[in-house]
Amino acid sequence: MSEADGKDPLVYIHQLTHRITRLLKALGRLGECESCHAEVYWMLTKNSKWLPYDVTGVPHFSTCPEADSWRKKKGAKEVEQRR
Ligand SMILES: [Zn+2]
Repeated sequence: MSEADGKDPLVYIHQLTHRITRLLKALGRLGECESCHAEVYWMLTKNSKWLPYDVTGVPHFSTCPEADSWRKKKGAKEVEQRR
């Protein structure tokens, strides 16, 4: 019934992506992934860690072809912290 005023989900996603990209540009630092050299925005987290995000707002570790190599490092750190 609300089809007429309802937005196409794709339009909605596009707007969201646009908003996220603007946020990333405002808050993040444009740089590149150290592993695959893709263009990413580095965002500072609450823990004062820099995390890379794709220009679409997706965390880069979910799209990086080299993510496995830096996931292992993280895992090693977590094991260290548990001791
Ligand atoms: Zn990468």
